[in-house]
Amino acid sequence: MNTHQSISSSDLAKLDHWIGGRSVTPAGGGYFETVDPRTGTKALKVALGDASDVQKAVDAAKGAAKDWRFFVAAERGKLLLALAAKLRENKARLAEMEMQDSGKPKALAETEIEGAINYFTFYGSLVYLPVGEVLDVAPDQHVFTRREPFGVIGIITPWNLPINQAARAAAPALVAGNTVVCKPSEITSQTTVEMAKLASEVGFPDGVLNVVLGDGETVGSAIVKNEAVRKVAFTGSVPVGRAIGKIAAERIIPLTLELGGKSANIVFEDADLDAAAKDSVKAFTLNAGQVCSALTRLLVQKPVYDAFLEKIRAEAETMTPGDNLGPIITPGQYERVKSYFDVAKEDGARTLTGGETAEVADRQGGFWVKPTIYADVTNEMRIAREEIFGPVLTVIPFETEEEAIRIANDSEYGLIGTLWTKDIGRAMRVSDLIEAGQIFVNVGNTMSVQTPFGGYKNSGYGREKGIEAIHHYSQLKTVTMKF
Ligand code: NAD
Repeated sequence: MNTHQSISSSDLAKLDHWIGGRSVTPAGGGYFETVDPRTGTKALKVALGDASDVQKAVDAAKGAAKDWRFFVAAERGKLLLALAAKLRENKARLAEMEMQDSGKPKALAETEIEGAINYFTFYGSLVYLPVGEVLDVAPDQHVFTRREPFGVIGIITPWNLPINQAARAAAPALVAGNTVVCKPSEITSQTTVEMAKLASEVGFPDGVLNVVLGDGETVGSAIVKNEAVRKVAFTGSVPVGRAIGKIAAERIIPLTLELGGKSANIVFEDADLDAAAKDSVKAFTLNAGQVCSALTRLLVQKPVYDAFLEKIRAEAETMTPGDNLGPIITPGQYERVKSYFDVAKEDGARTLTGGETAEVADRQGGFWVKPTIYADVTNEMRIAREEIFGPVLTVIPFETEEEAIRIANDSEYGLIGTLWTKDIGRAMRVSDLIEAGQIFVNVGNTMSVQTPFGGYKNSGYGREKGIEAIHHYSQLKTVTMKF
C-alpha cells in the first residue's frame, strides 16, 4: 500500500531559502513539488527562487565577506569544527531528510552525512597550516606570498549526493575566508538548507553561508552571472558545465567543474578475483549507480572472463531493490535508465542479470530497477560510451595490457580508474597511463576527504578535497617590500 497517496499539495511542508541567517520565502511565491523516489508520491514544496532572491543572497554574502576574511583563522576553524559537531548531533534527522529526498537506504544516507561532517572537521583543522612562502629575491627586499579569498563563491550541486557535495565545496571555501551562496538541486534541497541553518545555530555570522533554492536555468545561471560572485564550484552534468564555462569565460572568473564519468575497472588474470568481484559490484551499485565516479566499464582479461562473470553475477544478485539498493532518484532519470535497457538490446549486448525494473512490496510507484550487468560489450556500443547514471555495468573482455589501457582511455571522460593485479610493475605502468584524476589499485574508491579529487578530459577541471582544494578556493598574492 502506498502510504503517501493521500497527501495533497496544500498539506506538503515548505522549504525556503536560507539567506543572511534567516529563512526567506521566494520573491515570486512559487514552489516546486518534489517526489519521494521510493513511492513516486509528492513529498515537499521547495522554493522556486528567481534572480532577485539570488541578488539578496549575494548581497548578504558580500556584506559578510568584509569581516569574515579578517576573522583570525583559528576562529574560522573553530566554527567549522562546531558545525561538524552540530551535524553529528543531527545526523539521524539529516539522514531522514536525505532518505525522503533521494530514497537512499538508511546506512548510505548516514554515510553521506558522515562525509559532510568529515569535510568540516578536516578543513576546520587546516586553518593552522602555513599559507605562504618567503622568497629570496634581494638582500634589501622582503618578498612573500599569501593566499587570499576570492570573496563570494557560488556552489551549484546535483541531486545524487547533495550534502556531501555542498560540504565538499563549502568547507574549503569558508575556511579560506570566502563567503558562500549555495544552490542545491531543486530535487534534493533539504540537507543543504539544514546545513546552513545549523551553521547559523553554532555562530557563523549572518550571510557567511546562504542557500538559494530553485531551478538551474533561473537560480543557477543567475549565480554564475552575478558580478559579485568571483568563483563558481559546479558539480553536475557535462552540458551544464559547458554552459557555465561559457559564462565564466566571458566574466573571467575561475571554475571548478566536477562532471560526469564512465570510469574503467580493469581486472587482470592474476588478480584476487573474489576481492575484485565484491568491489566491482559495489562500485557500480553504490547509490544505485548515481555516483559520478561509479566504475561502469569493467574490463576483464580473457583467461578469467567467464569465471569472473559468474562471480559478479552472484554478487550483484545479493543487491535487493528496496533493501540494500535504493531507487533511481528522479522521475526523469528513471526514464533515462530504462531507455538504456532498450539501447543495450539494440547494441546487441548479452544480459547477464537485470535489465528491467523491479517491484518493491509496499512501495509501488517508486523508481526501482534491478542491478544490471551486460556482458560481451564492445567499447563502441552506446552503453559503453554514455554515462547512464544507474546501476548498470558493461563488461568488456580484453587480451593484453596494452589493449586494456587503450580501451580504458577510449572515452570522453577521465574521472577515476581502478585496476586489480598482483604485479607491481604492471600496477605502476597502468596507473601512469590511465587518463583519469584518480587511480585505485586492488582497493575500491575510498572517498576519503584527504585525497584530491577531480577529472581529466570531459570529467572536468580543478580539484576538490584534500589540501589541494584550498588552492582552488583562494588566490595567491605576491608581496615585495623594501624600506
Ligand atoms: P545537472 O547538470 O543537470 O544539474 C546540476 C546542478 O546544476 C543542479 O543544481 C541544477 O539545478 C543546476 N543547473 C542546471 N542548469 C543550469 C544552468 N543553466 N546554469 C546553472 N546551473 C544549472 O546535473 P544533475 O542531473 O543534477 O546530476 C547528474 C550529473 O552530475 C551527472 O552527469 C553526474 O556525473 C554529475 N556528477 C558529478 C560529480 C563529480 O564530482 N564529478 C558528482 C556528482 C554528480
